[in-house]
Amino acid sequence: MSHTSHRGHGTDEHELRVLDPATGGVVATVAGTGTADVDAAVARAAKAQVRWAALAPGERARLLRRFAVVVDEHREELARLEVREAGHTVGNARWEAGNVRDLLDYAAGGVERLTGRQIPVPGGLDVTILEPLGVVGVIAPWNFPMPIAAWGTAPALAAGNAVLLKPAETTPLTALRLAELALLAGLPEHLFQVLPGAGPVTGNALVEHPGVAKIVFTGSAAVGRQVLAKGAALVKRVTLELGGKSPNIVFADADVGAAAAAAPMSFLDNAGQDCCARTRILVQRPVYDRFLELLAPAVESVVVGDPSDESTAMGPLISQAQLDRVRSYVPGGLAGIRGTAPEGPGFWFPPTVLTGVDPDARVAVEEVFGPVAVVLPFDDEADAVRLANATEYGLSGSIWTRDVGRALRVSGAVRAGNLSVNSHSSVRYWTPFGGFKQSGIGRELGPDALAAFTETKNVFISTEGPAQ
Ligand code: NAD
Repeated sequence: MSHTSHRGHGTDEHELRVLDPATGGVVATVAGTGTADVDAAVARAAKAQVRWAALAPGERARLLRRFAVVVDEHREELARLEVREAGHTVGNARWEAGNVRDLLDYAAGGVERLTGRQIPVPGGLDVTILEPLGVVGVIAPWNFPMPIAAWGTAPALAAGNAVLLKPAETTPLTALRLAELALLAGLPEHLFQVLPGAGPVTGNALVEHPGVAKIVFTGSAAVGRQVLAKGAALVKRVTLELGGKSPNIVFADADVGAAAAAAPMSFLDNAGQDCCARTRILVQRPVYDRFLELLAPAVESVVVGDPSDESTAMGPLISQAQLDRVRSYVPGGLAGIRGTAPEGPGFWFPPTVLTGVDPDARVAVEEVFGPVAVVLPFDDEADAVRLANATEYGLSGSIWTRDVGRALRVSGAVRAGNLSVNSHSSVRYWTPFGGFKQSGIGRELGPDALAAFTETKNVFISTEGPAQ
């Protein structure tokens, strides 16, 4: 195992040790970024931003497209890095690196299209101008280190901002490599800087810095609330993508076979460390037993193991802390379905489905962020909606039914930002994504992604002559 050491503008007091989740071995040590270093980075970014915003839109778009091409050329390298530091299966990691490319490409296509409006007014011309915010801080989590970093970074850059990216403590390596690739692609120095470090130090310094105009935060609801509260002191723009406890509602009229076949990977993908994971499987009573009969072999046959093996469907959890957290949710005397996981070193937890759980139990209402789902029976449509909404979160959800009217009624009644019918898909870079309730504030991705990184300025130009 090679030991890479990344040294940059950091200080040793906050050194990060990056571990391979599949083995627990050390992959790299990375210097953390202290608060004084954050100040310096903000100052450099502010200067770079002014020059970047002054470039012709076509030039900014061209550079971002080149960045996308360079990411694509390094897709396999980035994917392998993601496997090492995050334990993602290699198939997922390749998709994630490709997603960064697509996000950059899509954002680049928006640069020349970021237009204001002309609004009819008497006595003159009224136009709106979408101006960049300035320096944007992106605080990323460890569960999808590359895509989520790019969700904020790509549209922010495209809209004319500079970006300071703070990756999670456990997963700084792909972010650092992306910053190198940005320079290779010809992006101006200091426009996109990566500041690895501890959340309460480096992340907090970005949140409290008056020179950072907006924070895009993805992570836990607890830290998200702190970011919002601290940002409020500066009236900082804040976007929050927080947790989820998403329902997968299976009605008796659904294709139960298809619903049972699709259910396992809807909460096991990325070892369940996915804010959209469908971890509350709600099944209408007449098909409850049949659904469980079909679900059991589907869960038990999920291949859990070495994430670098092409045939692996599920890898390890990110860390010992996450493993301990997931274990705390699964009581002894488990009733339900259990898959397999490797023994020995690494942070492994088997696919787990709990039945007979009280709908108010911790495991049924809190975000576990591991390969654990509960199955709860329901009586009718109203009962399904009540159960689906019986959580503080509102991020995603799935509805399985053959009745179009029911699909539309239930989609309207479930309080969540991203729903899918007879499918579990919820995240595409060209459709909006975000949460209701405690799942967050604001939307990312989709056609309005760039506008979220601008201020609207209204300018009225009088057509009256000068006052006599
Ligand atoms: P976290 O919220 O602590 O970390 C997310 C990011 O915020 C990291 O980059 C971290 O360094 C940073 N951070 C931490 N404290 C900060 C602070 N005071 N100021 C500014 N930034 C700070 O999440 P975690 O501890 O890594 O995970 C805990 C739980 O959060 C998980 O088990 C899961 O339930 C949830 N989570 C959700 C998502 C999501 O995509 N919604 C992602 C990661 C974690």
